[in-house]
Amino acid sequence: MALTSLGAMSAWATAPAHAAPETAGLDPALATAYEQASTTAHTEGVDLWITSGKRSRAEQQQMWRDGLARYGSAAEARKWVLPPNESTHVSGHAIDVGPQAGAAWLERYGYRWGLCRTFTNEWWHFEKTSIPGVPCPAMWPNAAVRADQMGPALP
Ligand SMILES: [Zn+2]
Repeated sequence: MALTSLGAMSAWATAPAHAAPETAGLDPALATAYEQASTTAHTEGVDLWITSGKRSRAEQQQMWRDGLARYGSAAEARKWVLPPNESTHVSGHAIDVGPQAGAAWLERYGYRWGLCRTFTNEWWHFEKTSIPGVPCPAMWPNAAVRADQMGPALP
């Protein structure tokens, strides 16, 4: 048993980082929807992958700090990155995808799985905000507008 465990750990440790499931930690409904959508995209020859899915509070806090430094004020930074208690990445309800052509494909066809682009200013950010087959709701101008109107317990 010890040898088997060590072997498994060794294989895990040497696996490339992208071998970890890109949907790890996501809300199961979002993970399933994305897996189905990406399978279809790949079948159609469209590149599509998750660039950022579930984030820890610490990761989001670092991004928030970086955002404050980059944008100069909390009001401006919140349009692009939210603090941990407001981010749907921390709750596992959001994915950022790439490349841009893949994101455009997902924006066009994602509604089949209930996947929708959420913000006008972020072509890469998607959430499961619809029911499969139902057109997506209108986009919010940015994350700050939605957070201010809907509160932090999203979605
Ligand atoms: Zn995002």
